[in-house]
Amino acid sequence: MPEVPPYLRRGYIIPDELFSIIPKPSEERLRQRPVAVPECPQEIPCAPCREVCPTKAIRMPTPNDIPVVDYERCIGCSLCVQVCPGLAFFMIQYVGDKARITMPYELLPLPERGEEVLLLNRVGQPVGRGRIIAVVPREKTKGDTPIITVEVPIELAWEVRAVRVER
Ligand code: SF4
Ligand code: SF4
Repeated sequence: MPEVPPYLRRGYIIPDELFSIIPKPSEERLRQRPVAVPECPQEIPCAPCREVCPTKAIRMPTPNDIPVVDYERCIGCSLCVQVCPGLAFFMIQYVGDKARITMPYELLPLPERGEEVLLLNRVGQPVGRGRIIAVVPREKTKGDTPIITVEVPIELAWEVRAVRVER
């Protein structure tokens, strides 16, 4: 039987493991405009991200393959983040000494633009504080998952994958 990778046994992936499976966007690309990065390392029959992408940036020869984004083709439209049922797609952009992370957010209340929130890593542990700079509620995602964009210190760009609203 093939060995189960540690991230599947553990239930979450760390950046080094992720970037041994898919390429990491270059810093130059991250500074140009938002880029979508899938954290979907399990071969499962699922492909709505590939179907929704307007530029065919998501390579997935069969629905059982893992998604790989052609970062040059990605226009940062966020549709893959909204549509992914596994909440596995994120968008990242570097701006100065900050990173802007766009992520799905299924809880209520939705954070508000300008609000300060607690930043959580992939295990749900607090790692710092950030500010919400954009919110797309469910009415505007055509029934798909609401998304938020949070600005974080750049060194947390590959750690923060959730936020907690503290009201
Ligand atoms: S953000 Fe838009 S263009 Fe980029 S991979 Fe996702 S759906 Fe495609
Ligand atoms: S839609 Fe989400 S869970 Fe399905 S293949 Fe794409 S990234 Fe993975």
